[in-house]
Amino acid sequence: MIFADNWATRARLWFPAVDHPSDKATVAFDVTAPSRMEIVANGTLQEVTDLGEGRTRTRWAESSEIPTYCMVIGAADFAIDTAGEVDGIEVSHWTFPADSAAGAAAFARSTEILWFYDSLFGPYPYEKLAHVQSSTRFGGMENASAIFYDQDTIGDALAASPGQAGDAQDGLTSLVAHETVHQWFGDAVTEKDWHHLWLSEGFATYFAAVFFEFNGGARGRGQAELMRQMREMMGPVFEYEAQAGEPIYAPASGSGDYTHLLNPNNYQKGAWVLHMLRHFVGDRAFFGGIRDYYASLRDGTAWTADFERVMEEASGEELGWFFAQWVGRAGHPALEVESASAGGRRTRVVVRQVQPGEPFRLFLDLALRWPGSERRETVELTAREAAFVFETPARLAEVAVDPDGWLLHELAATRPETGSESAPK
Ligand SMILES: [Zn+2]
Repeated sequence: MIFADNWATRARLWFPAVDHPSDKATVAFDVTAPSRMEIVANGTLQEVTDLGEGRTRTRWAESSEIPTYCMVIGAADFAIDTAGEVDGIEVSHWTFPADSAAGAAAFARSTEILWFYDSLFGPYPYEKLAHVQSSTRFGGMENASAIFYDQDTIGDALAASPGQAGDAQDGLTSLVAHETVHQWFGDAVTEKDWHHLWLSEGFATYFAAVFFEFNGGARGRGQAELMRQMREMMGPVFEYEAQAGEPIYAPASGSGDYTHLLNPNNYQKGAWVLHMLRHFVGDRAFFGGIRDYYASLRDGTAWTADFERVMEEASGEELGWFFAQWVGRAGHPALEVESASAGGRRTRVVVRQVQPGEPFRLFLDLALRWPGSERRETVELTAREAAFVFETPARLAEVAVDPDGWLLHELAATRPETGSESAPK
């Protein structure tokens, strides 16, 4: 069998190209191969010609402009299953015959996934969607309309022990969702240069989690499931920050080697940027802006500034500070929160930013809890330290910081002010 595997700049090793994501193009492949092989590539199947002597020529053509890193062919003895159709788009599964049952399990939610994103982002950009077991070096590779997956990841889809089956299935669903999101973000709207890769990987990572928020998985659905997935992403972000100390946008780093860009800044922190932006502008402006961004830049390329402009238009908010802080600056806020009685039912809450460097501009949600009820407050922080006084109907029992998980931060401490007799417990 033979599979192309181009990311980042290996298309040039097998066809002549301006091998850069800023230069997208349509593409057609004529593949002459032994007749026992099935051929898959980008776009639509145009022609299959029997050349005699056991050879067949197959032509695939993609009519939309795609980046060179997504232009591929695959040739193997495949079992091909048509999974269904979504909005006129055929979804198919291409697996090695011995792995077709595992493939059916791995790709079990492929049509549901396509339907969801087609509804969320706007019409799917290509003519078909093939999920293909392959020899790619990556777990999955988002080649336009012909996604390639690591052969063992698919082949082992049924191998999880019963106790892990739900999480293992969700892991595969998350992978398929991630690669499917890339069809819109990465493939159709492509980062104009490598250092804006978060526009591809951050989007795929975040909207894969959003799939579970709306459609559920083994651990449930809704805001709680989204919060769980976002919190899981914090660890890798903090670890990478400690090691690399770089912002997401770091054009000077690792020059010439693009694989270093496959890091938690572009994946998990990029996802967090979208998550925090969603909370700041609200669901209506956020999802509307995402649709506008796709509709206006489809089949083209984007810088981070293009995304910022579209989201400013969608929300009516000035967002320069937001992108400078979260994409252009390294690190994350570390917070210390103290509360103490300010007499009667009044409570004074002090929030300190204790991370190194300048303070962040933050909109921090607090849940003020007293026996039997609670109230949410959002406070804006711009300085190292800020104090707020809240009045509540009963004596305050607890101040919960960011109770719904919308802010990328570490909590240095949350406590009643020490030495105060009247501190709420
Ligand atoms: Zn990806």
